[in-house]
Amino acid sequence: MFNKFFKIALIIAGTCSAFLPSYAVHQSLVKNAQEQGEELVGSIAATMVARADVNVTRALGMLSELALQGVNSCDSDDIFAMRRMVYEQFLVQEIGIVDSAGNIKCNQFGDPANFYENSRGLRSRTENISIKMVKRVGSSELRSLLTWDLASGYSLGAILPGEALADDVIPEKMRGKGVALTLLDDGTILYMAPEQNIATAELPFDERIFSSSLSSSRFPFHVIVMAPYDVIWEDFDSLYNKAIFSAGFIGLVLWLLILYALRPKKQRTNEIEEGIEAGEFIPYYQPTFDVQTGALMGCEVLIRWRKPDGTILPPGAFIGLAEATGLAVPMTRSLMINVVDEMEDLHEGRPSLKLGINLFDDHFENLDIIKDIKEIFGPSKISYKQLMFEVTERQPLSDIDRARIVIRNMRSLGAQVALDDAGTGHGGLAYLQQLGLDVIKIDKLFIDAIGTDSLSAPIVDSLISLAESLGMDVVAEGVEEPLQVEYLREKGVRLAQGYLFAKPLPVDVYKRLIEKMVPLSKRPEERRKEQSRVTQQALPKAA
Ligand code: C2E
Ligand code: CA
Ligand code: CA
Repeated sequence: MFNKFFKIALIIAGTCSAFLPSYAVHQSLVKNAQEQGEELVGSIAATMVARADVNVTRALGMLSELALQGVNSCDSDDIFAMRRMVYEQFLVQEIGIVDSAGNIKCNQFGDPANFYENSRGLRSRTENISIKMVKRVGSSELRSLLTWDLASGYSLGAILPGEALADDVIPEKMRGKGVALTLLDDGTILYMAPEQNIATAELPFDERIFSSSLSSSRFPFHVIVMAPYDVIWEDFDSLYNKAIFSAGFIGLVLWLLILYALRPKKQRTNEIEEGIEAGEFIPYYQPTFDVQTGALMGCEVLIRWRKPDGTILPPGAFIGLAEATGLAVPMTRSLMINVVDEMEDLHEGRPSLKLGINLFDDHFENLDIIKDIKEIFGPSKISYKQLMFEVTERQPLSDIDRARIVIRNMRSLGAQVALDDAGTGHGGLAYLQQLGLDVIKIDKLFIDAIGTDSLSAPIVDSLISLAESLGMDVVAEGVEEPLQVEYLREKGVRLAQGYLFAKPLPVDVYKRLIEKMVPLSKRPEERRKEQSRVTQQALPKAA
């Protein structure tokens, strides 16, 4: 359950993290674009303020020079001085004596000029001067009028063109998109680039714009520069697409890797299928002994999964999955084929040797197992009589009636059928009565209880006497202590397996054990005799 939640959580986390590279690239590009955009408008604003400062300072220089020369009236010397000043440079177009109404009494040509005020006169932050926006009467052109107060109550005034206060420093890529404004501090627009009427200016901005505002440190004006996002983003667009695509690809690969790591059972089912095909399910053999005589009586076949890298997996690691995915039957078939390969030669001349084979619930669903037994053991040198099939009591059989038919078929071939893990489970006495079994294998749980005062201890006795009364053989499983052997011997139990004698053994070790402990019957006729004697012994007592 926890595992499942863990996997789901991992898949969700994996899916989210698949978007991480794209998200990171997006974030970093957007941040980069933002920085570049801010840098662009910031540097435009700084350049504009600097140039305007220089121009105003220059114009101011001219006015202060004229004031120093004592120019303060409309007499011909003063007009001449003003004219010379205008001729010497290109910045200031008109210089004149300005009256208190803001009109030029006389300019460098001696002409008067009347102005409409477009703004209040704003005083400089540092000098005794003011700047205001004006329109000459009869013209629509805005000009800035810079005035220098004189003691006479008049002022010296310089008319500056728009460009003087706002050089158009807007770069090509911002043309038609961005806007730069020079404003007097009262909000009057001195100049706007690209040059257009503020009333008709269409600002193409959505909320995503870069903007920068910078004030002149000396004069009462400031500059605002605004650029729409795509001015910068144009450069980033193709890079962005490529980067997002690559990052998305990396994310996808990451995600697939996570999915691969968490690949569901189906994948492992395939592994089991491949393992079956490759013959990776191999038998280990746990010997069974006669505790009365010490003779080796045979073995129980216990499955192992030998992976291609040589690791050996115990059945607990895979049989549940094999069962759940319907692969228990083919897996057992492949195991039995391996058993025949490894064991038939040794079993040919040793008819007393038994092979116990564990079955699954699936084997009792139909007669396929009978077909498999016939196909695999029929042509082999292992006789049916040497086989014992184990049906476990640990898990309930799903259909007792069908199981009975399968068991009857096994027994009619000559094989024995044992109740495995007797005492642990669901069947109990009912199984013993209904299924028609030959052997009871008493579970380790009860063997462990021998010699203790556990409640399980008396169950060994009842199972033994039950077997006796039904004419069945008993095998004690999981014998680990000599004391247990002693006890079983006293109770008349003959067969036992357990770590005390041997663990499940790989084939070559078990082969050597057989060769040492079970002599071959010498001649064919002797063998045949021996075989019939052993067979009669092994037949169920009730039969
Ligand atoms: P099982 O049929 O009861 O097999 C006996 C298990 O007890 C084996 O574990 C064996 O190694 C272990 N065992 C034997 N003697 C002792 C002992 O003295 N002390 C202890 N602690 N353990 C002992 P293994 O091989 O791990 O198998 C576990 C179970 O897996 C088996 O229990 C059986 O239910 C199942 N199994 C194994 N092979 C097959 C198979 O080919 N087919 C089926 N259907 N089930 C199998
Ligand atoms: Ca068993
Ligand atoms: Ca068992």
